[in-house]
Amino acid sequence: MSLINFYPGPSRVESKVPKYVSEAYKSGIIGVNHRSEAFMDLVKRTTKLLKEKLEIPENYEIFFVSSATECWEIIAQSIIKKKSFHISYGSFAEKWVDINKNLNIKTDTVEVPIEDEINTDRLVINESHEIVCLTQNETSNGTQINGHNFQKIKLGFPDHLIAVDATSSLGGIYLNFELGDIWFASVQKCLGLPAGMALMICSPNAIKKAEEIDERKHYNSFLKIYDNMLKYQTHYTPNVLDIYLLNRVIEERPSIEKVGKQTLNRYSKWMKFLDTFDDINLLVKNDKTRSRTVIALESEPKTIIKIMDEAKKAGISLGKGYGKWKESSFRIANFPALKNHEITYLRTFFEAELN
Ligand SMILES: *Cc1c(COP(=O)(O)O)cnc(C)c1O
Repeated sequence: MSLINFYPGPSRVESKVPKYVSEAYKSGIIGVNHRSEAFMDLVKRTTKLLKEKLEIPENYEIFFVSSATECWEIIAQSIIKKKSFHISYGSFAEKWVDINKNLNIKTDTVEVPIEDEINTDRLVINESHEIVCLTQNETSNGTQINGHNFQKIKLGFPDHLIAVDATSSLGGIYLNFELGDIWFASVQKCLGLPAGMALMICSPNAIKKAEEIDERKHYNSFLKIYDNMLKYQTHYTPNVLDIYLLNRVIEERPSIEKVGKQTLNRYSKWMKFLDTFDDINLLVKNDKTRSRTVIALESEPKTIIKIMDEAKKAGISLGKGYGKWKESSFRIANFPALKNHEITYLRTFFEAELN
């Protein structure tokens, strides 16, 4: 029997996925050519649905690529010429910096302690920085850049392009897309889908910048992706099945307003519940910098090993610690595809294990 997946990615897949896979097989969409009418129609319908359900501005474009990691590289190749600015709460933000450096982009990074909100007055961002790179939800340690901070960054630097890694929050909480120019997320986290695809969402300004740079050297150069998307096509044979599954999952999910409310509601309940235990504590003490979709908990390394082992025996998969907190923390996904009864089961497990 498979474990109940509380890992923050790859994570709980929507329970209707087997039904949708079967539909895709029976209807034949699973094997269509990516230059066919059927494919173009699927892409057109899917981007329209995403805009409606996630409240993505009408003038933004949505692209299908293969991973969030690929998005880091596409941005570095095609949308930045020389220099980027990064705000980092942890490992995923750092990985992004490394990708840019490897592609000869100069980088300036502000590392923010997990308990601190971003102080925009102290950010030294100037004209040499072409883009500000943010990780909205830092999956590695359960921190987030909250809406208020986000707004301050946008207001503080209105002429800069802003790129946002929202891999572990897009589809789980409300995001104001107007505040950024390039948003991306792979589908195996809050979207509850099998891994192997990512969404990249771009403002007219981001597209304009790519056109100025006019980079077309790579198979995944942004303008090649863009040119194909104008025809609702992709630049290579894509993961048609995942596009179909995304279409169906988004079609059946309520609006992001509703989904986001559920996420916040479940988050509050987790906070109250977890506060009752002495042996585990929230890794991030500041509610303002704490993620709503990935809950990181700290404890003694030996306690964590025991919890993880016992959880496995009880049929539950928990997320290991990551980076600096590898031994001293573990993580729980608070993603929309999780069922209420699965959450109740995990809570019962904690009660039995920790009391
Ligand atoms: C999971 C994750 C990634 C990497 O996603 P891939 O699909 O493996 O490329 C990048 N950034 C964040 C914030 C993530 O949570």
